Amino acid sequence: MKKGILLIISGFAGSGKGTIVKRLLSEYDNYAVSVSATTREPRPGEEDGREYFFVTREKFEEMIADDEFLEYAKYVDNYYGTPRKYVNRMLDEGKDVILEIEQQGALQVKAKRPDALLMFVMPPSVQEIYNRLRKRGTETEEVIMKRMRQGAREAGVIENYDFLIINDDLDECVQNVHDTVRCSKYAAVRNKAMIDKIKSEFNDFLNM
Ligand code: 5GP
Repeated sequence: MKKGILLIISGFAGSGKGTIVKRLLSEYDNYAVSVSATTREPRPGEEDGREYFFVTREKFEEMIADDEFLEYAKYVDNYYGTPRKYVNRMLDEGKDVILEIEQQGALQVKAKRPDALLMFVMPPSVQEIYNRLRKRGTETEEVIMKRMRQGAREAGVIENYDFLIINDDLDECVQNVHDTVRCSKYAAVRNKAMIDKIKSEFNDFLNM
């Protein structure tokens, strides 16, 4: 069976990346999502093992020491990390595995796994990012401004991603992400086994 693609989705707060991931999982059967470990407190409605594995700082540091993470990062005073085992198992089973992670982690994965596919999701304008954060109504103006400043910093790294997906119309955006994953399967970097096979066949053929 052909291995799946490791798909990284990052985006500004308010980009709608969480909704896009949920839609991909419910509309297509080729995806699996990785559940991260974090040291942050669960928010109301979040369940251990569903949104995150909520662990203590001691436990997280033990997992780092045991090399259990594909990547990890500190983000706003808390650790977040991707357990490696589940990701590898799902990739071996042919699933396209989604990591919804921030940029430091995304770049760590890119360095280790050149065949990972990095997508950055964003609304069509900065004004739209601000409007969406306000519309949520869950944060104070101060927190919204903190996220806007964080967004400005994150904008500096977008060029390291493979694809930029604009989330203007949600249906169109989900379709675009899925189409991009499908096309990316044909990239030479993800077909090394086929290239090696053809080289070895040429070798055998010419030496016959
Ligand atoms: P939140 O606390 O809002 O759930 O997540 C904060 C940020 O951490 C988001 O940008 C989210 O994508 C990112 N994140 C979640 N899990 C991981 C992870 O395993 N590794 C890294 N590097 N970032 C993560």
